[in-house]
Amino acid sequence: MSELTSNELIRLSAAALAAKLRAGEVTSVEVTQAHLDRIAAVDGQVNAFLHVNAEEALAVAAEVDAIRAAGGAAAEELHELAGVPIAVKDLIVTIGQPTTAGSKILEGWHSPYDATVIKKLRAAKMPILGKTNLDEFAMGSSTEHSAYGPTRNPWDLERIPGGSGGGSAAAVAAFEAPLALGTDTGGSIRQPGAVTGTVGVKPTYGAVSRYGAIAMASSLDQIGPVSRTVLDSALLQEVIGGHDPFDSTSLTDSFDNLVEAARTGNVQGMKIGIIKELHGEGYQAGVENRFNESLELLKEAGAEIVEVSCPNLKYALGAYYLIMPSEVSSNLAKFDGVRFGLRVLPKEGPMTIERVMAATRAAGFGDEVKRRIILGTYALSAGYYDAYYGSAQKVRTLIQRDFDAAFAQADVLISPTAPTTAFKLGEKLDDPLAMYLNDVATIPANMAGIPGLSLPGGLADEDGLPVGIQLLAPAREDARLYRVGAVLEALLEEKWGGPLLAQAPSLVEPVETLVETHGGSK
Ligand code: GLN
Repeated sequence: MSELTSNELIRLSAAALAAKLRAGEVTSVEVTQAHLDRIAAVDGQVNAFLHVNAEEALAVAAEVDAIRAAGGAAAEELHELAGVPIAVKDLIVTIGQPTTAGSKILEGWHSPYDATVIKKLRAAKMPILGKTNLDEFAMGSSTEHSAYGPTRNPWDLERIPGGSGGGSAAAVAAFEAPLALGTDTGGSIRQPGAVTGTVGVKPTYGAVSRYGAIAMASSLDQIGPVSRTVLDSALLQEVIGGHDPFDSTSLTDSFDNLVEAARTGNVQGMKIGIIKELHGEGYQAGVENRFNESLELLKEAGAEIVEVSCPNLKYALGAYYLIMPSEVSSNLAKFDGVRFGLRVLPKEGPMTIERVMAATRAAGFGDEVKRRIILGTYALSAGYYDAYYGSAQKVRTLIQRDFDAAFAQADVLISPTAPTTAFKLGEKLDDPLAMYLNDVATIPANMAGIPGLSLPGGLADEDGLPVGIQLLAPAREDARLYRVGAVLEALLEEKWGGPLLAQAPSLVEPVETLVETHGGSK
């Protein structure tokens, strides 16, 4: 039996849990059960999970415990994270659990195969706690576009947890899971990380296989880690990364230097570039203050701060909202009422395939998904293709060149992750353009295929909510993010007197108080 209570266990990092498991101080069944209990206690308020996979998670945990107890070669060969539980964004397909993509159109659908990242989690024997909520097909910045109700921010249940991966970020922030998987097409790992005070990483495009991640915009999508510490994200990226012949865009690089980089963080003599276009006007004052403080800390730690300019970033959002919907319109064509999930028959008239398809898509897709399919279909239509899609692709090249030039002057680049802290539920739901603006600082990395990491930079003065700091590195240089991120994280923890999440008002209260204070619905 562990010396720690379940409330203490759930607050440990994945690295700390892994160490305790290896030392035999705690069993995986205890750790997994503690998280399942936490989910049962708080998820009625948070709504981070769409499906809880208790039975299978506990079975995997018991298997790890049995192997450890038996000792010998099999115990030696266990993966470092064996027995550490994880939550998975419900855009990633899994055998034995439903996969909805947050959409009615996939309600009740079960994948006949596992995504490559899921195979890797299983090989590492990490118990999968369940599937997390998201904006429908990963389209949104608040998780309010889920067909299964919004996820709430554990810092303040009346606020959004970011999106599209609000479920994964909220689960980790609310101590329902030590780790989670997300997907990031324009910021869906990093922006939820920023507004929930967690760490999120979008790896280099191709560093983690996309096989089995339901495609939103294939040239931008990337699976990545969600955690409470920089080291934990490095540990998880090493589990899920690596070449995959099932993904034609998968890189052959090994990316096996990430944990080492996180453990030996150092910024001595490094050049860190402030991107002129990604802060200042349009950014909340408290965000800007925390950003400036981080720069000071890095300078004191021996980094040289330089300013770089990427003038074409001002076109990134516009180009993204042509390229992304174009790819969406093509990728979502397969949800036709024949092959997957929902099938709705027309109420009257002939029962043709086109009419079944139309009735199914009308009933199965939500407004935001329809908006993007229409936008993308228009942008790709004959006569407009060159003017819209073609031009956007040219802008993409200009953005890549801007980054190439910036990385000639700096080893990593830095910016706030999002222009504001978490906004109120409903605040931007009727204003798509205001919602899209949340991603101004995250989208450029997807457009260029470069890696980005968001870590908590402290609390904003005006509202006491978490602020995210984003680090960007050249493609394939993911290790640099972890090297710099680990240093900044340690300096910030010193400044804030410990991990930021320990200061979240609702999270440190006992569960009973959380329920009483916020009511909530599920
Ligand atoms: N919020 C962005 C969008 O709505 C990014 C989504 C994502 O990264 N999946 O497109």
